[in-house]
Amino acid sequence: MALAVEATPQVLIIGGGVIGCSVAYHLAQRGLKNILVVERNTLGSGSTSRAAGGIRLQFSNEVNIRISQYSLDFFENFNRYTGLSQEECDIGFHQYGYLFLLTNEQTWREFRENVVLQRQLGVPVEEFNQAELAERYPGLEVSDVLGATFCGKDGHASMHEVTQGFARKARQAGVTFWENCAVKAIKREGRRIVEVETDRGLIRPEVVAGCAGPWSGLLGEMAGVEIPVKPYKRTLFFSEAFDELSPTQPMTIDMGTGLYFRREGPGFLIGETDESQLPGFDISTDWNWLDTVVEHAMQRVPSFERLRIRNGWSGLYDTSPDHNSIIGKIPELDNFYVATGFSGHGFQQSPAAGLLISELIVDGQAKTIDISSLGIERFRSGRLTRERNIV
Ligand SMILES: Cc1cc2nc3c(=O)[nH]c(=O)nc-3n(C[C@H](O)[C@H](O)[C@H](O)COP(=O)(O)OP(=O)(O)OC[C@H]3O[C@@H](n4cnc5c(N)ncnc54)[C@H](O)[C@@H]3O)c2cc1C
Repeated sequence: MALAVEATPQVLIIGGGVIGCSVAYHLAQRGLKNILVVERNTLGSGSTSRAAGGIRLQFSNEVNIRISQYSLDFFENFNRYTGLSQEECDIGFHQYGYLFLLTNEQTWREFRENVVLQRQLGVPVEEFNQAELAERYPGLEVSDVLGATFCGKDGHASMHEVTQGFARKARQAGVTFWENCAVKAIKREGRRIVEVETDRGLIRPEVVAGCAGPWSGLLGEMAGVEIPVKPYKRTLFFSEAFDELSPTQPMTIDMGTGLYFRREGPGFLIGETDESQLPGFDISTDWNWLDTVVEHAMQRVPSFERLRIRNGWSGLYDTSPDHNSIIGKIPELDNFYVATGFSGHGFQQSPAAGLLISELIVDGQAKTIDISSLGIERFRSGRLTRERNIV
């Protein structure tokens, strides 16, 4: 039996993570009325719910710094921009800073080059030598650290509140959300997507925005285009209350091992990338990884010997070949845009990503930030967009 056409939206957003919800919010801000978001599970239940919530300005290339500047300002003023009161939405943006520890000559040199660019673009980043670091952060073991960079505007916020905040305002502006609704197939005619099959029926959209996070490669397959995004498992652990480090300890990243930790209430959130992971969709918590993380954590913070791990979880990075986002139109199609491949920095880039997709759809071009280097074409031409500060 043929499925009935259930909706004919002006824009169909596939994926209700923080990116899809930001796209919906920004499109609604531009006055579009007929927007539909379809989400296979519940809003924000994908990678968004698994993130560490980190937000930073300290990137190494101009486009990422500009995206972060727009986004950080948005997070600082989330209630003012969205019009939601603190009672309605409190994103809990704690600006304790990001502290990058460099233990290798080459990386330290590169980070100092980054600082030059960051300062040129107005990022208030500081550099510490080993003695300054030891004085400011007495709990850290820094005898092997050559230097560090720190930006006090960086911090972390609640992924749940940000996602729900975007969704709430979008809903108030007339956006429709279908949760528990999966996209099963995409039908093309020539250079256009004409029909999207879901388990609630058919949708005939004018424009499609693909915001499927780590599942973007599969979405591309449905549309007959290659979207080079792969899912990589990443694991975080969190601890019981721990008062032997400052209550405002910054997000601290050991670039030697990849270990990172930050305050989570009275305890700590700790993670480290397991480079041996192969791509896959399994997100069972990787408890085998805990020993490595704890070993590196105790080397960097000797008092962590007394830290008690309470729980942990794993989630997926939506990783692109150059660890940078893909924001733009798919060249083979006239009505298919994507915002994906954020490779571990999608939560923090979500405000700008939503804005830029809304500009591409409404104005035909991204106006606020030059994102020509983030187009999917770069993987075909081989002109990759390098980013050194990958966590
Ligand atoms: C352990 C970990 C730590 C992280 N830490 C940070 C951090 O500190 N800072 C930061 O900025 N980022 C961080 N990230 C990355 C961040 O979580 C992601 O980049 C971001 O959440 C991507 O958002 P998204 O909306 O694109 O993806 P998602 O949240 O995954 O949303 C995509 C949605 O699409 C839906 N979907 C997929 N296919 C279909 C379909 N066929 N039909 C309908 N719906 C579909 C999924 O159900 C999902 O909800 C971290 C990620 C992990 C795993």
